[in-house]
Amino acid sequence: MKESFEVAVVGAGPAGSIAALSLARAGVSVVILDKQHFPRDKVCGDVLMPDAIGLLRQLRLWEDVRTRGHFMEFARIFAPDATCVDLAGGFHTIPRTDLDALLVKKAVEAGATLISGAAANDFRATASAAHLGYLENGDRKEIRVRMALLACGAHAKTLGRFGVSPRETPSAIAMRTYYRLRENLDDTRLFFWFERAVLPGYGWIFPLGNGLFNIGVGLFQDAGQTGQNLRQVLNSFLAQCEVPREMIRGGTRLAPFKGAPLRTGLTGAEPSRDRLLVCGESIGATYSMSGEGIGKAMETANIAAEHALAALSSGKMAARDLARYDRDLERRFRELFASYRKGQYWLGRPAVCNLVFGRARTSSWVRSMLEGIIAESRDPTELLSPYGLLKALVLR
Ligand SMILES: Cc1cc2nc3c(=O)[nH]c(=O)nc-3n(C[C@H](O)[C@H](O)[C@H](O)COP(=O)(O)OP(=O)(O)OC[C@H]3O[C@@H](n4cnc5c(N)ncnc54)[C@H](O)[C@@H]3O)c2cc1C
Repeated sequence: MKESFEVAVVGAGPAGSIAALSLARAGVSVVILDKQHFPRDKVCGDVLMPDAIGLLRQLRLWEDVRTRGHFMEFARIFAPDATCVDLAGGFHTIPRTDLDALLVKKAVEAGATLISGAAANDFRATASAAHLGYLENGDRKEIRVRMALLACGAHAKTLGRFGVSPRETPSAIAMRTYYRLRENLDDTRLFFWFERAVLPGYGWIFPLGNGLFNIGVGLFQDAGQTGQNLRQVLNSFLAQCEVPREMIRGGTRLAPFKGAPLRTGLTGAEPSRDRLLVCGESIGATYSMSGEGIGKAMETANIAAEHALAALSSGKMAARDLARYDRDLERRFRELFASYRKGQYWLGRPAVCNLVFGRARTSSWVRSMLEGIIAESRDPTELLSPYGLLKALVLR
């Protein structure tokens, strides 16, 4: 292994790998550490939304991802009153075991060095360098770099060790498992259920192709969904909700139920401090309302890499200099994340959910709004606000 690097990236999820890849492509010597060995599992719904696909295209990674996963044009949404509507969007499912292994491989091919099985647990910045301590096979090691990028996902303990004032509690929790379901089952669309008992969370069945399905449920603790047993919520969703119950009939569960925390709303940790930038789910770059975060994890990582490049070339890496990154995130994303938070408030009400998805069947305005939200060409509050809901009632 090379002895010295300019940048260390902590975490090789989508955020860390994209940051490392972008830096390596720009000619920076970069090392990426992950506490796990790849390929590794990551609890997720395994869906790439249009923003994620767009970024992968921009970085010339899409063809490699596309050929490994399952593309679907539509998402079918069930409202609490059991009406359903199909929305067009363009979605791609790929197990995170495969996606994350592919992205970190791409970062390594671009020139990054991967140290897997390395748990970062200490960070110190001085006037001349940053020192990153980590544990590898029980041995304590340290790397000296010019700066570091932190992309450790929703791992609050690591965030605490990096001194970025993290909120201790997650914003949401979600659980999933994998099933093999019967052969003739529809695998041409994602299935979402906004069930009364689960709102503002939702249940899902996502086809992965070849008879495999990712099945799960998510609850938003920051919207008051605390104290529930997630396993029980998932079991009763599958047992009591008619369509999913029918879909899984005769199927085989292939994996244990696994749950994980989410950090949403672009809150919960400082994006920068001396010689350090934080990106991905670590800064809450996962949407409230939907819980999707792969796209924005990669986008914020790409932006963090741009700021790291500028800092490396100017030599200015003090917190006050890197705060430009915080301001850039605010400018690009604050309003968008706030809109998802407001959308979550409205969509969490069964009557609103019934109105929105019911009207999407007959009103092309409502449908175009929902499809625009999926494509990120529309702000969620254009529809999910008192004025938007009034328009939903009258516009065709
Ligand atoms: C059940 C569930 C379903 C979801 N479904 C979807 C979905 O379908 N689509 C979507 O877009 N989003 C989904 N999300 C959200 C999505 O998983 C996250 O937004 C995304 O993984 C964030 O990427 P990241 O790179 O920031 O963090 P992660 O993917 O969490 O990667 C962080 C990495 O950091 C490593 N790490 C942590 N601590 C350390 C340490 N101390 N030292 C070294 N390495 C460390 C971890 O091992 C990990 O590899 C879901 C989340 C859950 C929980």
